[in-house]
This record gives sequence, C-alpha cells and structure tokens, in this order.
Amino acid sequence: MKQTAEIEEIVGRLAAIAEDPNAYAVEWKARTQRKIIGILPMNFPAEIVHAAGALPVLVQEDNAAITYGRSLLFEFYCGYTRSLVDQAATGKLKIYDGIFLVDHCVALLGAVDAIRFEVPDLPVFLAQFTASMDEDTTRPQVHGRITELRERLEELCGSSVTDEAICRSIEAYNRDRALLRRVYEMRRLGRISLSSRQMQALVKSAMVMDVDEHSQIMTRLVAHLEAGSVHSTGLVKLHLSGHFCHAPRPELLDMIESCGVAVVDDDVYTGYRYISTDVPHKADPITALTQWYFDRNDNVPCSTRAQKSADWESYLANAVEKNGAEGVIVLVAKFCEPHMLYYPELRKELHKRGIPHLLIETEHEGLALEMLKTRVEALIEGIRRSVLSRETA
Ligand code: SF4
Repeated sequence: MKQTAEIEEIVGRLAAIAEDPNAYAVEWKARTQRKIIGILPMNFPAEIVHAAGALPVLVQEDNAAITYGRSLLFEFYCGYTRSLVDQAATGKLKIYDGIFLVDHCVALLGAVDAIRFEVPDLPVFLAQFTASMDEDTTRPQVHGRITELRERLEELCGSSVTDEAICRSIEAYNRDRALLRRVYEMRRLGRISLSSRQMQALVKSAMVMDVDEHSQIMTRLVAHLEAGSVHSTGLVKLHLSGHFCHAPRPELLDMIESCGVAVVDDDVYTGYRYISTDVPHKADPITALTQWYFDRNDNVPCSTRAQKSADWESYLANAVEKNGAEGVIVLVAKFCEPHMLYYPELRKELHKRGIPHLLIETEHEGLALEMLKTRVEALIEGIRRSVLSRETA
C-alpha cells in the first residue's frame, strides 16, 4: 500500500507540472535567473539549449479555446498550430526569451510566421533540416543547422556553448530517456499498472522540466515500480499510434481504458516517439546530435521524413507483434496532413497482418467521447470474439 501511495504521489507531482508547464517555467526562471526557451516539436535537440544554460520547454497545446488566434490561421490548420498562434496572440508566449524550432511540416511554418507577426519582439529562430534522409547533402546540412542553433543560442544567452557543456547535456538527456524507457519496458511486460494518462504525464513533464530535476524524480519512481509485482489483468491489450506534436487529451485515454483495455505500448509523440532514441557517444557533440536526427527515424519512423530504408507501417506492425498488443488505435489530430496522408499505408499493413485497428480523429475543440466510446467498445468486442473463436476452433 505504501509503495502504491508513493507512486501515486510522484506521478501526481509530475502530472501537475505537465498540466501547467508555464507556471513551472516561470518559477524556474525566478529561482535560477536564467533564460527559458520555447522549443517546438518534433525534431529539436533540447540538449543544445540546455548546454547554453537555459531551460528548453517544449511548448504544449493549450487547453484554452482558440479565440484571438482564429484571425491569424485558417480553421483547417491542426489544433496544435492554431493553439500556438492563439498563445502568441493572448500573450502566453511572452514568458519565453526566445522560440527555437526545427521545421517538420508546412503547418508549423505557417504558425511560426503568425507568431513573428503577433509577437515581433520575441526572438524566433527556425532551423530547416532536410526532410529527405537519403540525400548525400542531408547530413552536412543538418550539421550546419545545428551549428547555427548553437551560435544563435550563444548570442541570445550571452555565453559560449562549449563542446563539454553539450556532452554533459547529452548525458543528462540520455539518462532521463533511459529512465522513461525503463517504465515503458515494465509496461510492455505487464509489470506495472500505470494508466495512459499517467504515462503521458511522465513524458510531458520530461518535455518541460529541468532534465536533472526530472531524472531525480524518475529515479525514485523507477525504484518504486521495480519493487512492484507482475499484474495479470485480463484486459484487451492495445497499442496507441500516431498523434504528432501534442498530447492527446487525457480524458480520451481514460475513455479508451474504461472499455476493458490495457494500453501496453505506443508510438505517439508525447510518448515513446519522444524517448525512443539516445544521442550516440561521439567526440564531436554536433556530429552526435546530427546522428540522433537520423537514428530517431530509423528507430521510430515518422511520416514527416522520407527515407527508403525506414517505414512506419512495418515498424508499427512489428512493434505490435513484439509487445503482444491485440489491436491498435490510431490517433490522428484533425488536419494533420503528414499523418492523414500516410494513414492508408498504416491501414494496408495492419490489414495485411490481420491486426484489428480503429482510427480516431482528435480535435482541439473537443471530442464526442460517448460516440467514440461506442466505436472503441465495438473494436474490443471484435477482438474478444476473434480470440474466442480461435480458442474454440
Ligand atoms: S505534424 Fe501534424 S500536428 Fe504537427 S504541426 Fe504538422 S500538422 Fe500539426
């Protein structure tokens, strides 16, 4: 009982920070007198900001209704970009000393233009990384862009960003990712019973907190989780896939799990995609961060990148075979083009391998949870029936 209470307390603490990252960032700045830099998903190396002595905070979708931002971006932009612009228009981005990003889709570029227009005094630096991973020019180009990021951070923070500092930051982030991956591993093995809402809080808090502080808390959490026992739930095991850039609403995750489901794994951005890959050890830390860009797409391919030797559909189907999930729920943010256009490939592969799945489209403006629940229940019923007919055949 004591163990469970400790776990709840630790996860609750991280969840509170994940729920209000701006409050954490403002408090951190007052405490440390250092700068906070807003970084945008999905390919930005936070290590470089950390090495400059600033706090990298991955700017999250805000739950508030989009009001002023409506006049700045079309309604057919994804909820994340419209929320970003609304945060700019309502003064919420003013807590940051700068916004840094690596582009990955055209909607994000549109949002950045609107942020520049709305908050002209806020330094915004965009590094364009080549999306085609197979070109000979991609690696030197990405290396050059990370070098520029380093220079711009040196100007903004007023101190040099040394190789040693970047190496220390890489180690710190690798440590934190490893702790989070350990929790993921325990979830796959059925050794822990954290809900998807709680798992999301662990990753989301890692995106916004000081990495050392996060690792300290995670170390305590992992120790408590390791001391727990194996859980056999009898629930239908599912894999959650997709949802780029921002976290799906926790109430959606709660609803899915309320249908007799145990989520055993995911590849959502505010989940395993974010923590999948460590920065390799290399003498030149910029080369290491460049390599990380390539390694991430090898490990968990993303449809915003083009690479002949890596495809998301094979990754997804293989992951499901390994983690023992009996089905997949694909979560796609409405108007997320890179995901919507790729979905037919995912569907084809899941069909080919006989993996049941359901597509759920999410919206910033809210979700018809009761209606969605009927669809999730139908998926679960179908999985249960096919298991039963296999067993009785
Ligand atoms: S990848 Fe999708 S969710 Fe992310 S900014 Fe682009 S359209 Fe929006």
